[in-house]
Amino acid sequence: MSYQNPVFIPGPTNIPEVIRKACDMPTIDHRSPAFARIFKPAVAGVKTVLGTREGEVILFPSTGTGGWEAAITNTLSPGDTVLVGRFGMFSHRWIDLCQRHGLNVQIIETPWGEGAPLAAIEAALAADASHRIRAVLSTHNETATGVRSDIAGIRRAMERTRHPAMLFVDGVSSIGSMPFEMDRWGVDIAVAGSQKGFMLPAGLAILGLSPRALAAMETATLPRTFFDFRDMQKSYAGGGYPYTPAAGLINGLATAVEMLQDEGLENVYARHHRIAEGVRRAVAAWGMRPCAASPELYSDTVTAVVVPEGFNGTDIVTLAAQKYGMAFGVGLGEVAGKVFRIGHLGSLTDAMMLSGLATAEMCMADLGYPITLGSGVAAAQDYYRKTAGIAAKAAA
Ligand SMILES: *Cc1c(COP(=O)(O)O)cnc(C)c1O
Repeated sequence: MSYQNPVFIPGPTNIPEVIRKACDMPTIDHRSPAFARIFKPAVAGVKTVLGTREGEVILFPSTGTGGWEAAITNTLSPGDTVLVGRFGMFSHRWIDLCQRHGLNVQIIETPWGEGAPLAAIEAALAADASHRIRAVLSTHNETATGVRSDIAGIRRAMERTRHPAMLFVDGVSSIGSMPFEMDRWGVDIAVAGSQKGFMLPAGLAILGLSPRALAAMETATLPRTFFDFRDMQKSYAGGGYPYTPAAGLINGLATAVEMLQDEGLENVYARHHRIAEGVRRAVAAWGMRPCAASPELYSDTVTAVVVPEGFNGTDIVTLAAQKYGMAFGVGLGEVAGKVFRIGHLGSLTDAMMLSGLATAEMCMADLGYPITLGSGVAAAQDYYRKTAGIAAKAAA
């Protein structure tokens, strides 16, 4: 790899220069007020990005996977039932993590390319008259298939069935890039990581916790030490940590949330939507289609492109890395080889995206795909020309 090109993987994402500089700082005493001065604005900014006033934010030195583990071990007990749809690699991994912790996981098998199965979730909640289901878990943006699920729709199903379960949402590849409304959607735990929408290196699990989730930790008996919310809350009250925090990353996070708020969250979301729509126009011009089953499911952070019969999507990714020094995402699990993924989140512009689309075209031409060089790029250019400045105007 040349390290000169942006990456087009759906995380880790490109790190803006100012954030890299913010992460690179001298050692500070994390038990001194200097740490609190970094930490407090980072936490306040994350709350805004999550869309919560009522909730609390906790940051672990970890990744999104650690955030999943923290969510369940702090709120549930062995044998508790959780309800979850499986429709991609990331929903699958969270299910696996729950099973390994001895939870009773009620799985709704859903075709990959579909989103959270709202009708089946509602039926399962309605059938659970004794309220054994303690939590409904859902991936918001399934990074393996490029599918966005309707989290507000899950909350409505819970309201219609008057079910008291908690709602836990994996927003690792959506938060900070696509609208996320923790309070409005009644999300009890939101899980994010530092290396996607927050544009940082990997190393932080970022969690938003509702008052209900925090109350659940009083009776939950799954074992936890490193991830114990109670220890974090005690130390946070004094502006510190129960152990050594990742101070550089937290300093970078303070910069990242400032950048997102300076741009304006609505503008950040509009930029992601516009870049993503250009990618989708390119895919259509290639005569191909996204893995997401229908337009309302399209993700604005990643597109899994279904490759034609007889081709292996992984070859595009391998060739792009070897020949052109550019990174795309491979297909995972059930869709391995059937798709390649274009990540379009984080620190990205339309012009950067055009370079990614142009390189994907070169790879496909090299591999004998039935495409015309420039066709996808032209379709994206056309869309970007027509929509340039719209997000900026909305901000003015
Ligand atoms: C990247 C990702 C994760 C995993 O996060 P890690 O930081 O790699 O542990 C979880 N869920 C989704 C939806 C993701 O995209």
